[in-house]
Amino acid sequence: MRTIGVLTSGGDAPGMNAAIRSVVRTSIYNKVKVMGIKQGYNGLLNGEVDEMNLSSVADIIHRGGTMLRSARCDEFKTEEGLNKALNVIKVFGIDGLVVLGGDGTFKGAKNLCDAGVPVVCIPCTIDNDMGYTDYTIGFFTAVETVVDAISKIRDTSTSHGRANIVEVMGRRCGDIALYSGLAGGAESIIVPEMDFDIDEVCKRVIQGRNRGKLHHIIALAEGVGNAYEVAKEIEEKTGTDTRVTILGHIQRGGSPTAFDRIMASKMGNKAVELLLNNESGRALGMKCNEIVDIDLDEALNAEKKLDKEMYEIAKILSI
Ligand code: ATP
Repeated sequence: MRTIGVLTSGGDAPGMNAAIRSVVRTSIYNKVKVMGIKQGYNGLLNGEVDEMNLSSVADIIHRGGTMLRSARCDEFKTEEGLNKALNVIKVFGIDGLVVLGGDGTFKGAKNLCDAGVPVVCIPCTIDNDMGYTDYTIGFFTAVETVVDAISKIRDTSTSHGRANIVEVMGRRCGDIALYSGLAGGAESIIVPEMDFDIDEVCKRVIQGRNRGKLHHIIALAEGVGNAYEVAKEIEEKTGTDTRVTILGHIQRGGSPTAFDRIMASKMGNKAVELLLNNESGRALGMKCNEIVDIDLDEALNAEKKLDKEMYEIAKILSI
C-alpha cells in the first residue's frame, strides 16, 4: 500500500474535514502517499486527483463542509462509469481508497471493492440513518444546531403564546428530530418511524395551555409530511396560533462539535491502519463508544431502528 486516495461523497457533514485531515496525516506519518479526489465519485471518473501534504489539511479541523467538495454522480452507478473510475485509480497508482459519505456512497464503494479495489468507508451524514453504527459523523453537530434553533424559537413562542413547528432533516430517519426534540424540551416529536396522531399532538397543545404553558414546540422530521398542513390542522383544532420554521441546510453546516471531530479523527486513523494491514471492504462505526470495523455488506444490510426508549422518555418529560 504505497498510495491511498480519499474522497467525500453524498451530502456533506460537519466533521468530514477532520476525517480527511486524519487520513492525510496518518498516511504521511506511515510514509504513504495520499491523493485527494475532488467532488466524490465525479472527480474519480474525471481524474480530479491531487497529491496532498501535511499543509493541505492545515486549519480545517474546525471547519464544516468538505475541503475536497462533494457531489452526487449518477454516472458512477453505471458499468461505464465504474470502469472510468477504475481506470483513473490505475492511472494515478491508487492502491486503496478511504471513502466518506452515507449509505449511497457506501454502495458505490462496494462496487469498487467488488472490482478489486481495497476500500474502507467512514460514515459521514447528519441523518444518523445507518443501522450498523450508533452514530455517524456530523449527526451531533446537526443536533446542536437544531437545539440552538429550538431554544431561540422557544423564546418567541413564549412571548406570543404560540405553537411552533420546527421541521428538521430526516426523510426516513427521525433521529435529528428525536435527539434535538429531547434536548430542546419539545412538547411533541413527530418522526417517520412512529405513527403520528394529530389529535394527540392537539391534546398536548391544549393540556399545556390549560396548565399555563406559554410555549409549545413540535419537532417534526421532514419525512413525515407537510409541516404547513400540520400547522393548519393544529391551529384549526386548538385555536392556537401555530407557526412553522423549516431549518433546511443550516443543519448541514457549522463547526463540528468536539465529539464529531474526535470520532472523525479516530476513524480516519483507523481507516488508514486497516488499508495498511491489507484489509478491504470494511465500514467503520461506533458501538458503545468504541470505534469498530465491520464487513461493508453487513453495514449496508443493517436495519436502522429508532430508539423507542428515548422516544418514550421524551414523551414522559414533555407532559
Ligand atoms: P446522504 O446520506 O447524505 O444522502 P449518501 O452517500 O447516501 O449521503 P447519495 O446521494 O445516496 O448520498 O450517494 C452519493 C453517491 O454515491 C451518488 O451520487 C452515486 O455516485 C453513489 N451511489 C449511490 N448509490 C449507488 C449505487 N447503488 N451504486 C453505485 N453508486 C452509488
